Order: sequence, then C-alpha cells, then structure tokens
Amino acid sequence: MSLIKADLDLFNELVEGLLNEESDQPVAERIAATELYNKLDLDLNEEPILDDEFKSTMKEVLAATPKTATKLFFNQLFGGRQGKAIVGDLLAVMLNNSMYTYKVAGPQVGIEQEIIRKSCDLVGYGEGSNGTFPTGGSMSNYMALIMARDRHDLSVRSNGVSKRMTVYTSKESHYSNAKNASFSGVGRDNVRYIDSDEFGRLIPARLEEQIKQDIIDGFDPIYVNCTAGTTVLGAFDPVNHIADICEKYDLWLHIDGAYCGSVIFSDRYRHLLKGMERSDSFSYNAHKMLGTPMTCSILLVKDKKDLHNSFSNDADYLYQTDGDDFNLGKTSFQCGRRNDALKFWTLWKSVGTKGIKKIVDHQFALADVALRYVRNNPDYTLYSFDDSISICFNYKGIDANKLCTALYERKITVVGFGAFGKDEFIRLVTINANNSPDDILNFFRVMEDFVDANPELLN
Ligand SMILES: *Cc1c(COP(=O)(O)O)cnc(C)c1O
Repeated sequence: MSLIKADLDLFNELVEGLLNEESDQPVAERIAATELYNKLDLDLNEEPILDDEFKSTMKEVLAATPKTATKLFFNQLFGGRQGKAIVGDLLAVMLNNSMYTYKVAGPQVGIEQEIIRKSCDLVGYGEGSNGTFPTGGSMSNYMALIMARDRHDLSVRSNGVSKRMTVYTSKESHYSNAKNASFSGVGRDNVRYIDSDEFGRLIPARLEEQIKQDIIDGFDPIYVNCTAGTTVLGAFDPVNHIADICEKYDLWLHIDGAYCGSVIFSDRYRHLLKGMERSDSFSYNAHKMLGTPMTCSILLVKDKKDLHNSFSNDADYLYQTDGDDFNLGKTSFQCGRRNDALKFWTLWKSVGTKGIKKIVDHQFALADVALRYVRNNPDYTLYSFDDSISICFNYKGIDANKLCTALYERKITVVGFGAFGKDEFIRLVTINANNSPDDILNFFRVMEDFVDANPELLN
C-alpha cells in the first residue's frame, strides 16, 4: 500500500472518531489556556513519534478542539458542515494547485471564474466585471479600499499617498475597516465612523454631512463601505441611498457582505440589497452563510480594469503562457494562492442555485423560529430585528457575558454575546443550515434548564 493510502486510512479513522465525539459530546472538552501545554502533548521533539502514539495524540487534540459543526455551536458567524463542500476542499488539498496561472491550475481557473461570473450576474454587474478569491472578508475589504485609492489617484502606486484621503463606514461595521485604512496609507484617523439608526443601519444623511465637512476641511473623500449584515445585529445598510451619495461625490462604493451578502441567492431576501448593482465592488464569504469550510471569500468588481490597475505586476518568470483572463495571479493579492473555489463549486454544482437559495432561506426561517420564541416568552428581552439571522436577547435579565461564559465553561452550549448602544445581550446566530427548527428550540431549552439548575446566575 502506498504511503498516502495508509495516511488517508488514518485520516478516515480519525474523522470517524471525531464524528462520534461530536454526537456524544457536542461541546468539546475544554482545556483552560493556562493548562494547555500540560494537558496535551504539543511538543515538537528531535525524535519521531511512534505511529500508535501519534494516533492517540491526534485523538486527544481533536477531542479538545472546539467543535464548530455541532448543533450546540452558535458562537460565530459560521457553523455546520456541507458535505459536498468538504469533498471539494479535500480534493483541493490533494490536487494542491496554485491559482496564479492556467499552466499550474488548469480547469480550476475556470471553476473560480464560473463562480465569479455567476455571482456578478446575481449582483447585477455587467460585462466588464470580474473578481477574485481573497483570503477572507477582511482581505476583500482591503483590496476594495486599495482599488478605491488607486482609482482616485493612480500615482499613489509609484509615489505613495500624498493626499489627505478619508473613508466612510458605519460605527457597526467590521473592524477590518480600521486596519485596512492603516495598511493602505489612508490612516486610521481618517476613517469616519458614521452613526447608525435604531436598527443598526448607517444613516445616509449623516454620511453626506460628514463628506461635505471633510471637503470643506481640505480632505479627499474616496470610499464608502456599506455593510450587508453587520457583525452584531445583522443589519443591512441602505444601499440605494448610499449609492446616490457616492455618485454625487464620485466615491467608490464597496458592499461588505462577508456575513450576509449571500442573500443575493434568495428571491425573498435579495431586496435587502436593493441598488447593489450600483456599487463598485461587492464581497461575500461562502464560509459564513453558505457553510463551506474556511475560508471562501469572493470579491466582485464592477470594472475589472480596477483589479488589474491595482494588483497586476509584470512577472516574466511566472506569466509565460495563456492570456490574462486565465492567469489569475494578475488580479490577486498573493503570488501562490490556495484553491478556495473548488469547495464552493462542488457544493453549488451538486445542489444547484436552487439548493444554495434554500440554504440561505432556511437560515432566515430558523431565525424566525428563534424570534417568535423570544417574542412570545416574557422571560426574554429582544434586541434584534426582522430580516436578520442574528437573534439578540437577554434571559431573565441575566448578564449576557456571565451566562455565555457559564454555558461555555460547563460545556452546555457555545454562544456569544454582543452590544449595541448601551445594551449587552446574547447573540444567537442561526447560520448553521444543518440545524432544524427543533435544534433552535433545543438551544433555548438547554439554556433555560441550565439557569434553572443554577439559580445563583439570577443574582
Ligand atoms: C466576518 C466579517 C468580516 C471579516 O471576514 P474574515 O473572512 O473573517 O476576514 C468582514 N466584515 C463582516 C461584516 C464580517 O461579518
């Protein structure tokens, strides 16, 4: 038997053990961070390890690793597992291509481009559009900002930033906006955080006021980030209003749909992004709502010229054959690039666009189950709104941080908390499309039983 086959057998054995673990013990055995190096054999040593020891060490590591695919994991903006996507990702590992040239990636180039093409159609971008697969949502936002900067002043590429540029995003947007401003030379102090309304949506009138003031003060506004699914409340900024302002002042409009941009697939919910075709760039994370393995982020650009202007670099040693449309390294940030497209393609291909649509709609249906439960139960206070898969609430007035931490430490369920304005609350995310309505109701049951058994939490 070839070595790789033996290793794959080992892999299958470990996975089987993991799946059993997940059903027996949906919340992983927690190791306190201070105990980590004592509890597990993580040392790298001079000598090799025996096969049996290797296997048992691996089993211990797997058992202690947080389980994000189970029915009791609600902590993050991802969760669950799509089998066909797993198959695609495992094959991508076996194939081990790099996405920069057609020579090295072959049909994988077409797979990536097909996803981009179909996604551009769903957003409503026209013929000149294209895109790429960055390393994640933060990087998608970064690349969008760089394109905005370069479109505003192409000389930046050679001379560096000389103008006093400003960028705009809501107070509820993702923190990558601040980091990206720093990386791009715009500067963290030149990010303008615009107030959001009571539903967590950016207020366009405030945006325009700020832009006008900045122009008077001698700044150069270049970019507006519009969020499709804010991190805490899952709110959608009003695209059409923001697009009006961007057109008026000639600003790049980026839609950060890392969390909920996948609503482009849903006939029922795509209206939340009405006007999205007016944006200059759009990103979404298939590893969030669509349940592919991490990471799978898609950045779409209305005019592919902007991608080329900012990211292509002549490299004679690399681009020796085929055209630019097939040598994807000309529009990516990295040189060597992992194949993040195949897992999404195997999923999409197997269930069809209709199946992807179902995944999205199902999450909103689960959110409705949770919303109805919270609304109909006087022990709960609700803080989130309709059309969101983040359900934010408090139970019996218990401090959210305290309850979430206790639930986690006692291995009951893994759920996070967040804040909006002065309120802090539990945030239940119905993003795991493997869950049924019963699984959502089970979450509440498990939490309530825990509180009943631990009345000291009420003090
Ligand atoms: C998750 C998220 C990001 C960051 O995406 P990563 O892939 O984690 O880098 C950016 N914006 C929003 C709105 C997000 O929810």
